[in-house]
Amino acid sequence: MNYDTIGRMAEYKILITDGLDESGQAILRASAKVDDRSGISADDLLKIIPEYDALIVRGRTKVTAALFDAASRLKAVGRAGVGVDNIDLEAARKKGVTVVNAPISTSLAVAELAFGLMLALAREIPRADAALKQGQWIKKELEGIELNGKTLGIIGFGRIGAEVGKRAAAFGMNVVAYDPFLEAAEIKRRGAEPLALDELYACSDFISLHLPLSVQTRDMVGEQAFSQMKKGVRIVSAARGGIIDEKALVAALNSGKVAGAALDVFAEEPPGKTEAATHPRVIGTPHIGAQTAEAQSRAGDDIAAEVLNVLQDKPLRWKVV
Ligand code: NAD
Repeated sequence: MNYDTIGRMAEYKILITDGLDESGQAILRASAKVDDRSGISADDLLKIIPEYDALIVRGRTKVTAALFDAASRLKAVGRAGVGVDNIDLEAARKKGVTVVNAPISTSLAVAELAFGLMLALAREIPRADAALKQGQWIKKELEGIELNGKTLGIIGFGRIGAEVGKRAAAFGMNVVAYDPFLEAAEIKRRGAEPLALDELYACSDFISLHLPLSVQTRDMVGEQAFSQMKKGVRIVSAARGGIIDEKALVAALNSGKVAGAALDVFAEEPPGKTEAATHPRVIGTPHIGAQTAEAQSRAGDDIAAEVLNVLQDKPLRWKVV
């Protein structure tokens, strides 16, 4: 039980709308009343949000300005994961609501998926499996390429990008990176050769995206970017939909400029039967980068502790706004 400033008992109410691992929920329940309304509609959420002191989401729930307006008690929004592009940060700032995330909990899971996607592209593993299950033995058609000796260009060399880089180096790849917010010396320390974006495009056999979606990065990998890339480049994105211009990607796949793409994220999610999602040379996964048992457990624990820190006025580790 918690006490307010004049010593009355106050019980925090916390709402979960996109699921939260059981151990994270247990941490919350020790200090608050917790309602798990995973999958709640936007309209229903708007109706019940005035009751809550804190809201915990993943990527599905859109935390809009209208929701902040209705949320008269809200002090904290927690994102059980990294990306906060589904939360209107400006509206949070205006309303004095603290937004926190769990940025380190899912890095390894996403890095491993990105690496898996790169291997899947190099060896066409999904196509091989699908053919086998249909009784076909298409061995001759399935001549892949090796990662060893190839150049991997990583765009965004933060937590996830750097973990992908380490794994690539262990596979004998030459790792180059573009990150305008990191010093060249820091990129080198993290194990890659720092390059300008056009240089990275010109020399990479594989390109893996690990930067956030923002006004600056929306559609960044579009027609002009593809025109600067090597013919036969393979592209991986486990970052955010919207960074790749999907129309331009489909055109680049059809022209042969891009040999293959592996996408965990799409401009619209779920993408339905868009050309990008159904293209024969696209390997797609339904935004499962952070979906490992270990990552979900860490994300739940981290965000539960951090949201309680906000409510109890304790120092914060991962304040976004
Ligand atoms: P991070 O903040 O540690 O690293 C991101 C890096 O991108 C930073 O170093 C930053 O300087 C750099 N960057 C920013 N703008 C850039 C630009 N215009 N060009 C190049 N680099 C730029 O974040 P992280 O934990 O490594 O996560 C990276 C991204 O992965 C997140 O933004 C998120 O969108 C995505 N993600 C996806 C999943 C998934 O399920 N697929 C899960 C978690 C995170």
